[in-house]
Amino acid sequence: MKLSDNFTLKEFTDSITAVNHGINNVPGAMQIASLRNLVVKVLQPARDALGIPLFISSGYRSPALNRMIGGANNSQHTRGEAADVQCDDNAALFNYIRNNTDFDQLIWEFGSDEQPQWVHVSCRIANNRGEVLKATKENGKTVYNYL
Ligand SMILES: [Zn+2]
Repeated sequence: MKLSDNFTLKEFTDSITAVNHGINNVPGAMQIASLRNLVVKVLQPARDALGIPLFISSGYRSPALNRMIGGANNSQHTRGEAADVQCDDNAALFNYIRNNTDFDQLIWEFGSDEQPQWVHVSCRIANNRGEVLKATKENGKTVYNYL
């Protein structure tokens, strides 16, 4: 199923972890609607502006898959509202989303001051918070600071 010019539903549901553990990772209609909203409002505009492929390393996670990989309780990934994205210039992706789109939460995930290792972004159908965070490791624990 195509979600937009450059994104398919499969990119947001494929999970090697789910396959390896026999976990069902099929989204329902509400989660698909949320994924489409994320793509239409944030990811396709970023893809068009940057002109480079965006790779979805994690999109939808069923509650069982989210537990398996140790995702946050009530993660927006389980609602189809969030994706972890990588490309050849993660900082440019982050900055584009921050400055040009209606997002709910945007996270600079680890990496350096120049480039995040990946970008987490979420989008709700309404009431987006526009929250911008940076994730770092301190003594082995993940810490989030506002940017
Ligand atoms: Zn994420």
